[in-house]
Formats: sequence, structure tokens, C-alpha cells
Amino acid sequence: MAKPLVAIVGRPNVGKSTFFNKMAGKRISIVDDMPGVTRDRITADAEWLGHHFTLIDTGGIDPKSDDVLLSQMREQAEIAMDLADVVCFFTDARDGLTEDDKDVANILRKTEKPVLLVVNKVDYLDLNENLYEFYELGLGDPIGISSVNMLGFGDLLDRMIELFPEDKQGDTEEKPPIQLAIVGRPNVGKSSLTNRLLGENRTMVSDIAGTTRDAIDSEYTDEDGTVFNIIDTAGIRRKRSVEDETLERYSVLRSIAAIRRCDVALLLIDANDGVTEQDTKIAGLIHDEGKAVIVIINKWDMLDKETGTYENYKKKVLDDLKFMSYAPVLFISAKSGQRVNQILDKVKEVYATACRRITTGVLNDVLNDAVNALQPPVQGGRRLRIYYATQGGVQPPSFVLFVNDEKLMFFAYERYLENYFRKTFQLEGTPIRFILREKK
Ligand code: GDP
Ligand code: GDP
Repeated sequence: MAKPLVAIVGRPNVGKSTFFNKMAGKRISIVDDMPGVTRDRITADAEWLGHHFTLIDTGGIDPKSDDVLLSQMREQAEIAMDLADVVCFFTDARDGLTEDDKDVANILRKTEKPVLLVVNKVDYLDLNENLYEFYELGLGDPIGISSVNMLGFGDLLDRMIELFPEDKQGDTEEKPPIQLAIVGRPNVGKSSLTNRLLGENRTMVSDIAGTTRDAIDSEYTDEDGTVFNIIDTAGIRRKRSVEDETLERYSVLRSIAAIRRCDVALLLIDANDGVTEQDTKIAGLIHDEGKAVIVIINKWDMLDKETGTYENYKKKVLDDLKFMSYAPVLFISAKSGQRVNQILDKVKEVYATACRRITTGVLNDVLNDAVNALQPPVQGGRRLRIYYATQGGVQPPSFVLFVNDEKLMFFAYERYLENYFRKTFQLEGTPIRFILREKK
């Protein structure tokens, strides 16, 4: 269901943002869409010849600091390779081939992901002939474009959509591992929790915020033989010269990468801080991707507790994360190990819920009950009629509703149905979707 992701990488000033903005047009990015988010856009939905995809601007490099530029570019390339289905590597025809380009190309050549070599600022199409030097990068045929004039976009996009992965439905016989992403702001305790879950010191934990580490996948099998693949996203580097905004951008990009790959996301929140704007942003990503989720309040050992602390805290968290009120909330200490043993059982539960299939018969019985208990809205003398429902998919559970007129479905009624379904089917920890189909 997820759209292909295309990452744009390259040196500062080669025209990445210009391209991104031209492609994005007026479409709204998922990041902007989220509650309480005012940051610049990182992703944008785009379309070419009926193919929908998401562009990711891995930008965020601070060009003022020369010494870290290269390492930032490497980081950017690595994130792109981790994240994207297709990487667009931008270079600049006016500058010609530079040493930095070569350096990034060295990294990009190592990936199995397809890379398109884009030479921007070819403002006259016949300049396409002067792109020979870029062959040296070993990334295939350079594609000349002009972002400012929107020249050459057609060829680039044709090549791009050819490279989108066909959605292979894996029919493996063995149960695949449950992909578990541990996400959250830097320093909330992701590595500590990963280590606790694995029961050994696999990743380094340090008191220095964001010590250099890379995202690490580790497999773990529990007593029941369930296999988990734990995706730790702690690969955020803090260098003094990297601006906070850059760091935050990378941390969001890493989170997106992990969330897209996962079945269940553990959203870690620091008990000392409560739900911050950045937490809300990550929660929004999880919700939008349709992933199952458990909210984990970590460092619970650091709070003074009185009666009612736990209930009040939980209420506040779910209030702050209103759109995610279906998430179970656990209070743990990764440091002492308190209640960490509850996590994987909960993961199995919400995973099973996200994968649940409800038979059409039962679904329609419940739909009838819901409709009888509260009639659908009327507008302009016409009432919404829901003829029947069927489950269209899992992860997240998606329900197709056949209706007389889509426009008669209002948010409030959809919410009502969602809550009714949630309560009846005990759909904890997973978003659910309704898809409307008109039946005349
Ligand atoms: P980024 O740092 O890679 O995101 O680069 P920007 O998109 O900010 O562009 C850097 C500069 O290059 C700006 O002044 C743009 O107007 C200019 N630029 C971008 N694309 C083109 C192009 O196709 N032709 C020309 N001549 N200039 C361009
Ligand atoms: P990450 O950046 O999210 O991976 O966070 P780390 O796992 O590196 O933890 C950051 C800091 O918080 C380290 O100093 C940890 O020792 C500390 N920490 C992590 N979990 C807990 C916890 O449950 N309680 C307390 N008191 N400290 C914790």
C-alpha cells in the first residue's frame, strides 16, 4: 500500500530544493499535515502518469561549516539508501564534476537501490551533450535537467517510475519475524531499551547525547519461538557544528525509515518531558503509515510517584496524542528493567490485532448494529446509506464500505463507526481505515 519513496541527495546549491518544490507543487506534505507541526517540509507527494510516489528531501546540510559538510553528505546518502526505493543524486552542470560529488558517488555505488544520476542546471536541452564527464561517477547515464525551467523532467520521471519496485507479495512458508521499530527523540532511551530487550550489550549506550552509532537490526527469539527483528534508530550523530535543526531533520528521516519497515512501532517518550512536539511528529508518521503502535513512557524510575500519578500521566499522554488514542501505554525503566518484560507480549498482541481478518458476515452484523444504534447523517434531504462492508486488507485493518454517496459521510459519523468497530472487535494498538465505494 505504501507509495514508492524517492530520495533527493547532493551537495548544497545544486538545486535540490528547487526540484523538490517544482515537483511538490501545491501538494501538502505528510509532515506538514500533522498536528502541531510547523516545520519545513521533508516529504511531498508527487505524481507522474498516474504513478504516485513520495519525494524525500534529505537536505538539512548546513553549508556554513565546511569541515562537517562531507560527513553530513555521507550521512545524507546513507539515510537515502536506507530509506528510499530510488535515490536521485543531484549534481550541477555549471560547476561540473566536483570532488564532493565523487565522494558521495562512492557511497551510492555500494547500494543495491537504484540510483539516478541527475545533472541539474542544464538550462538548454542541447547542453545534454556536455555531460560526458559525469559518466566517471560510475552511476550510469547522467540525466540532464533544468529545475528552474522544468526541462528534462519527463525523461527523468520516466526513468524513475521504471525503477519502482513491483509489490512482491512474499509467499514465504515460515513465519517472518515481527519487525519492531524503536523510535523516539534522541536520548529517550532507545539504545538502552534495545539492549534490555536483547539482554546483552549489543549497542553502545553513552551519557553523551547522540554519540555516534548506526541503526542496528538485531533478531531476538522469545520463549514461544516468536522471532522479532528489532530496528534501533539511534543512529543520530551530534556534532557541535551541526545545527539542531539538521539533527532533528536526520532524526525524523531515520524514524521514517524505521517506521516504514516495521510491523509494530514502539514510540518512546521520556517521562521527564512528557509528549513534546517532536514526539507528536513521530507519532503522526506512525499513524499515517498505518502501523501498529505502543506508546512507551521510559525513565519512569526518575519520577516521584504519588497515588494517581500513573492514571493521570496516561490520561495526559493520550490527550496529547489524541489521534492515537487507540495506543496502549506502558510505563517502564529501560535502565532498571522495570516492566520491560511486558513489552514483547504487548507487541505480539497488537501485531495480531493489526493482522486480524474479520469475516464479512460478522462485519455486516456489527455494521447493522452500529447503524441501528445511530442513524447516518442526512444532508439536503438525503441520508447516507451503507449497503454493506467488507474487509479490504490488514496492517492496518481496512474496511470497504459500499455507500450511496461518499459525500454524505461525515467525519463525526466515520469516527463513530471507528469507535464502534474498535470496541466490538477490540482493535487496540492499530489504526484502522475506512474506504468508501459508491454503489449506484
Ligand atoms: P539545494 O541547496 O541543492 O537545495 O539548491 P537550491 O534549490 O536552493 O538551488 C541553489 C541555487 O541554484 C538557487 O539559486 C537556484 O535558483 C539555482 N538553481 C536551481 N536549479 C537551477 C537550474 O535548473 N538552473 C539554474 N540556472 N539555476 C538553478
Ligand atoms: P537514545 O539516544 O534514545 O538511544 O538513548 P540512550 O539509550 O542512549 O539513553 C540516553 C540516556 O538516558 C543514557 O544516559 C541512559 O543511561 C539514560 N536512560 C535510558 N533509559 C533510562 C531509564 O529508564 N531511566 C533512567 N534513569 N535513565 C535512562
